[in-house]
Amino acid sequence: MRIAMIGTGYVGLVSGACFSDFGHHVTCVDKDTDKIDALRRGVIPIFEPGLDQLVERNVRGERLSFTTDLAPAVAEADAVFIAVGTPSRRGDGHADLSYVFGATREIAAALTKPTVVVTKSTVPVGTGDEVERIIREIAPEATAWVVSNPEFLREGAAIEDFKRPDRIVVGTDDERAAEVMREIYRPLYLNKAPLLFTSRRTAELIKYAANAFLATKITFINEIADLCEAVGAQVQDVSRGIGLDNRIGSKFLHAGPGYGGSCFPKDTLALLKTAEDHQTPLRIVESVVKVNDLRKRAMGRKVIHALGGEVRGKIVALLGLTFKPNTDDMRDAPSLSIVQALQDAGAHVRGYDPEGIEQARPLMPGVTFCDSPYEAARGADAAVLVTEWDVLRALDLKRLRETMAQPILVDLRSVYPPEDVEQAGLRWHGIGRPPRNA
Ligand code: NAD
Repeated sequence: MRIAMIGTGYVGLVSGACFSDFGHHVTCVDKDTDKIDALRRGVIPIFEPGLDQLVERNVRGERLSFTTDLAPAVAEADAVFIAVGTPSRRGDGHADLSYVFGATREIAAALTKPTVVVTKSTVPVGTGDEVERIIREIAPEATAWVVSNPEFLREGAAIEDFKRPDRIVVGTDDERAAEVMREIYRPLYLNKAPLLFTSRRTAELIKYAANAFLATKITFINEIADLCEAVGAQVQDVSRGIGLDNRIGSKFLHAGPGYGGSCFPKDTLALLKTAEDHQTPLRIVESVVKVNDLRKRAMGRKVIHALGGEVRGKIVALLGLTFKPNTDDMRDAPSLSIVQALQDAGAHVRGYDPEGIEQARPLMPGVTFCDSPYEAARGADAAVLVTEWDVLRALDLKRLRETMAQPILVDLRSVYPPEDVEQAGLRWHGIGRPPRNA
């Protein structure tokens, strides 16, 4: 199969590289000339484990190439995937579909033969209908089948997720389009990944329902963590105790500083907008969004409280800045709210992250960025573990303590047992268990 991937970001680049690894011929297209130039020089513009080797192997095998020129890539493709961004629209939280529709117009003008146009971007219900309408308007003679194929990969484990998905969802009523999609994903369903065919609208909704459900699970355990702190219980044991129940499952039950990232915040908001537009409010998701927003800000107050309620002129070291480990993505990271709360209260913030500093820098004015966790903690009044990168899971706590002005560790990811923290001479503050010596 010949595939054109429109949008070469976290999803487009991983999907394109994986499809080429299956043996398809893939052209990744992006408007961003710097990105395409970098990729042509063999430089991967994002941090995603294993992606550099995957890209290199398939470029060398002449199955994967990069261009800013959409038309020729579309003209020769059997399937064109739209994998452009769908951020929150400024002001109202609707998904901003301008990139999707912009790409659609360019695709429509470039069609030369029967083509399957696949929306991989996360788009609200009914977007496929509009994509189809735009194509009919611009290219009334063209034969194009518009299919929804939402993507469920997670940054940080994107290649593994793409190659071993729990399921592949394909939304189409057209048997010819279904056949092309079966062919594209054949290597996966030979590996027994269920290929679930649904209507296009259903496929679009599945993606939002999945993200809203996962966001709900995280938010639920975060609230239970607050209750644990108040009543003298331990949330990690509660998570284990409920997660071992197969009906519940153990994933997404890790209490923390609130969900962030490039998907959950914007997708939950967009789902609420869709629900509102159709007069079917989703009260549970509404609460999840509110609770999570409040939680991210509350984490800043937790740090201030650990420092005795006053942080003016104090130095706080944030360890880990990205919204989760193994990505450089800073979109909607909880660290952004924590930095804001601390700076508002007059603290000096230092930040360390193994991969995210370049993306964090423009988003965190006034923060001093450091090359190691120990450098960030030098002379600090508190260290806050925000993102559980592997290098931050095995800190030498004694060494950390020796560099700090005050011995305070706020562990927002429950990485370190309080006893170990105290043995190293640090005072422990954290999530989901009662304060120590209370
Ligand atoms: P991204 O911002 O990393 O990449 C989007 C790319 O599209 C950018 O490089 C941009 O320059 C390019 N682009 C925009 N308009 C274009 C056009 N007309 N022609 C060519 N290129 C164009 O976004 P992302 O994180 O890869 O997300 C893409 C979509 O996938 C979103 O809808 C997102 O919700 C969804 N998604 C993301 C993830 C994730 O983990 N990031 C997971 C599942 C689904």
